[in-house]
Amino acid sequence: MGFGRNRVVITGGAGFIGSHLCTKFLNDGWDVVAVDTFHTGQKSNIEPLLKNPRFKILTHDIIQPLECEADLILNFACPASPVHYQSDPIWTMKTSVLGTMNMLGLAKRTKARILQASTSEVYGDPHQHPQKETYWGNVNPIGIRSCYDEGKRAAETLCFDYHRTHSVDVRVIRIFNTYGPNMAVDDGRVVSNFIVQALRGEPLTMFGDGKQTRSFCYVDDLVDGIFRFAHTEGATGPLNLGNDDEFTMLELAELVVAKTDSKSQIIFKPLPADDPKQRRPDLTLTKSILKDWSPKVKLADGLEKSIPYFKEASKK
Ligand code: NAD
Ligand code: UDP
Ligand code: UDP
Repeated sequence: MGFGRNRVVITGGAGFIGSHLCTKFLNDGWDVVAVDTFHTGQKSNIEPLLKNPRFKILTHDIIQPLECEADLILNFACPASPVHYQSDPIWTMKTSVLGTMNMLGLAKRTKARILQASTSEVYGDPHQHPQKETYWGNVNPIGIRSCYDEGKRAAETLCFDYHRTHSVDVRVIRIFNTYGPNMAVDDGRVVSNFIVQALRGEPLTMFGDGKQTRSFCYVDDLVDGIFRFAHTEGATGPLNLGNDDEFTMLELAELVVAKTDSKSQIIFKPLPADDPKQRRPDLTLTKSILKDWSPKVKLADGLEKSIPYFKEASKK
């Protein structure tokens, strides 16, 4: 692995992806410090980890400086669902800009490697399809999604400026729509919304005509890619991570209804502003850098793996 020491700080560690990363690194023998405000994260995501003496949770907002030791930092703190990142847009922007600057300052002081969770949102409503890492994107700087999109773009800029100016060892990944267990029932993103609505027999809320596309990645594939990239020498990214099977939201709804054996109908709602029409990662660069990595879990199988979790979680 080439690390010698082994303390990983995972910001957003109580969130959906962060909690899976905590488990992955604990299982690999690392000491894990999760940092979270529990704003969109859940205590239940980390409860099973608390009995492990190598796991620690710090309730802390990364907008404030953080003093601790680290060999690796995974910066995943940031609300990720449009409903949540738009509910306090200024805090979202501060988290991406001030929070990432603090984590880069921590990486600079401790000489830790830092992996930044960026997003396919940096491509905005893309004019290039599928999206390659070389595409600069089509992003509205003043719209309702901008606090997230532009915040994440500024965070990428900071990563590369700390790399060039202070030789900080950065890794930047652009994550495409990922789903799975540990997403909050009220997360608000499409996969969790549709599954929970189908399980409750409620209508599935389709925004727009449902012909917009996304490419959905099961969380285990994503975490495997992150783990490999965190251990890869001599590559900074940015690197796309996700699954390149593309679906319309109507296709997703049909699949969810079939997999949950539900009688739910679809109800159409207005499309939110600046909602991207299409999205699919070009994984050529990722596969060349991560060698034997590729997304393995098909959407139909990933939904089957996720539904039992949502059944349990939506009872609480
Ligand atoms: P999530 O909302 O479940 O997790 C985010 C976590 O960060 C939560 O636990 C939240 O409480 C915490 N947090 C937010 N702001 C914080 C702050 N200022 N200080 C400390 N903790 C804070 O979302 P997720 O899907 O797990 O996303 C994790 C990361 O991955 C985010 O940075 C997100 O932008 C990125 N990402 C996710 C996806 C996806 O499809 N899931 C896609 C692209 C990028
Ligand atoms: N920082 C932090 N933890 C550390 C070191 C720095 O949170 O262990 C914060 C620091 O408070 C500053 C930011 O990271 O706001 C950037 O640090 P850097 O050293 O680059 O900036 P400077 O202090 O020189 O402005
Ligand atoms: N969407 C939908 N119904 C919902 C939630 C989302 O039709 O209940 C749509 C949304 O408008 C978008 C797509 O599904 O076109 C993916 O939305 P999500 O919020 O999951 O992620 P993002 O837009 O950030 O990719």
